Amino acid sequence: MIRTGIGFDIHRFVTGRKLILGGVEIPSLEGLDGHSDADVVCHALADALLGAVADGDIGQHFPNTDPRWKNADSVELLRAVVARVKAKGFHIVNVDAAIQAERPKVMPYAQRMRERLAPVMGVTLDDVSVKATTMEGLGAIGRGEGIAVMAVATVEKDESRILPDLP
Ligand code: MG
Repeated sequence: MIRTGIGFDIHRFVTGRKLILGGVEIPSLEGLDGHSDADVVCHALADALLGAVADGDIGQHFPNTDPRWKNADSVELLRAVVARVKAKGFHIVNVDAAIQAERPKVMPYAQRMRERLAPVMGVTLDDVSVKATTMEGLGAIGRGEGIAVMAVATVEKDESRILPDLP
């Protein structure tokens, strides 16, 4: 059984915070505002994975009122979501993330994000895609007010967890 999920997240730029995308620190004068480290790539991927197994969303499992996730490393949040997916008897087939950012240029860091995230999700590098686009100056992202990410995830039910048909 193959299933897919979609995830979306957006965070606003602020000064005085590190910019962390896909678990990778990117040199930038501004970071993203948020309760955790505001890693919008990990958040969108986590929501795509939860969507694939119809297990709610990260706001529900990791509320931004919970002090445990204050300035949290979102790679650990993603790891916790992967554990939920596995507990439901699924493994991850592939994920794809599309980063929307006017600045800084994030594509030079895409490979490092893939290398950081693949082992967390128990997949190979070929199963993790990270892409980036600008918004051509259009809208809030185009004005450089923040960064948004769209992500999709495909998961598959582990064969060993599927009960054989009764005769
Ligand atoms: Mg978020």
